[in-house]
Amino acid sequence: MDITAMFTKAYREIFQNMSEGIIMVDERGTIAVANPVAEQFFGYEPNELNGRSIEELLPQRLRQGHEKMRFGFNAHPQPRRMGMGRDLLGLRKNGSEFPIEISLSYFNIQEKMMVMAFISDISQRKKTEEALKRSEEQLIVYAAELENKVHLRTEALNQSITKLENEVKERKKAEEEAKKSLEKERELNDLKSKFVSIASHEFRTPLSAVLSSTSLIQQYKNRGDFDKMDKHINRVKSSVNHLTNILNDFLSLGKLEEGRVEVNRENIRLREFLEEIVEEVKASLKENQKVEIEYTSSVNEVVTDPRILRGIMFNLLSNASKYSNPGKKIGISCESKNSFIYFHIKDEGIGISAEDQKHLFERFYRASNAGNEQGTGLGLNIVKRYVELINGAISFMSEYEKGSTFTISIPCENC
Ligand code: ADP
Repeated sequence: MDITAMFTKAYREIFQNMSEGIIMVDERGTIAVANPVAEQFFGYEPNELNGRSIEELLPQRLRQGHEKMRFGFNAHPQPRRMGMGRDLLGLRKNGSEFPIEISLSYFNIQEKMMVMAFISDISQRKKTEEALKRSEEQLIVYAAELENKVHLRTEALNQSITKLENEVKERKKAEEEAKKSLEKERELNDLKSKFVSIASHEFRTPLSAVLSSTSLIQQYKNRGDFDKMDKHINRVKSSVNHLTNILNDFLSLGKLEEGRVEVNRENIRLREFLEEIVEEVKASLKENQKVEIEYTSSVNEVVTDPRILRGIMFNLLSNASKYSNPGKKIGISCESKNSFIYFHIKDEGIGISAEDQKHLFERFYRASNAGNEQGTGLGLNIVKRYVELINGAISFMSEYEKGSTFTISIPCENC
């Protein structure tokens, strides 16, 4: 078979049956021939495209631009893909548009250039691409929704954790409160039983003293022995005072326990205040005991609760007297420095051992050398709590058998 005839036949087959559309155009853009696929793409009858301008296959708005590009191609022809980087559109005979992809080639025939366009209808691919894009977008939306859900769940979880933590805290608090009130109740019971034992012990001596003194007073009255009567009347008085002191201590403790002690601050003139207390204490001093006031403070006035401060001073001065022998000196001095006013109550009494010093402020604690001196071991505990109520502090120094000095400091604005 003639080889040229064979090629011609083969090319015709390719031209007719290729899946791509082929359109051949001359230099002026007139379509010389189009294969059936191209005719189908653009919706034309067989051979209906021949003789039409290639621009007719483009949407109106793109035609001018295309014409320019065609001239450009004619000037420098070379096989290439058309529309790199942008989407190409074809126009069907019925006016609808569809996406296409074009590769260009050319050849010369009888000194005229023919351009050959290979066209693919990429509608399907575009649809797939768009569907892909849409599902990508959906995926992004879904991911965002998921993230949001996770965020909401985490927040809800955090809230439940916080709620749980708060519940645990509250339960702990309730437990602690229950424990505290149980402890308080226990303490109160302890206090009550201590009170009963102290009352039965401490009350017996003064009460029997009162009983014996009153019957003696009766006898001395009949005999007209007024001196002895006086002596026993004083004994009755001091016993009653002692009982009153014990009861006062218990009352104070009860009030402190229940937080019922109010602090009412007012201006106190220090010198007069101390002199009044010393005057009051004198009645209960032992024989020949003396209280001396040493006043070195340049400050004359201080603002604090006078009732509380009186209670503190009275207690410390009473102890100084109680735990010293008759004839001993008791000193009370007052100085001010660094925004504090200091009161020192000094005695030459029995002192406190190092071991006892550790427990001195504990409730009901009495030092080993307290001996027969009457007492409940409550006074210093109450004093300490009173001092704290007026924002002060208490300390002491003591040497066994030599004496003790108790120091109170309270804040003072103008010191
Ligand atoms: P009370 O005097 O009723 O026993 P306090 O609480 O006032 O109770 O004092 C506790 C203990 O501290 C006393 O029992 C005593 O042993 C000791 N104490 C207090 N003040 C002095 C003091 N000035 N000198 C020696 N010991 C003291």
